[in-house]
Amino acid sequence: MALRDPFKLDLSRKYNLEKTVCRNCGATNPKTATKCRKCHSKNLRQKRSKTRGR
Ligand SMILES: [Zn+2]
Repeated sequence: MALRDPFKLDLSRKYNLEKTVCRNCGATNPKTATKCRKCHSKNLRQKRSKTRGR
């Protein structure tokens, strides 16, 4: 996916940062979530900004 629009890039980056990903099932949850909305496990990780898309 090639995103050249700087505004959209910034937006998507922001949204990606404000997510947590479940280590158990891989579902994305809100940043404020303490439990996964799908499997209710507390095994969540923060999305990292360093990982760049292809
Ligand atoms: Zn889960």
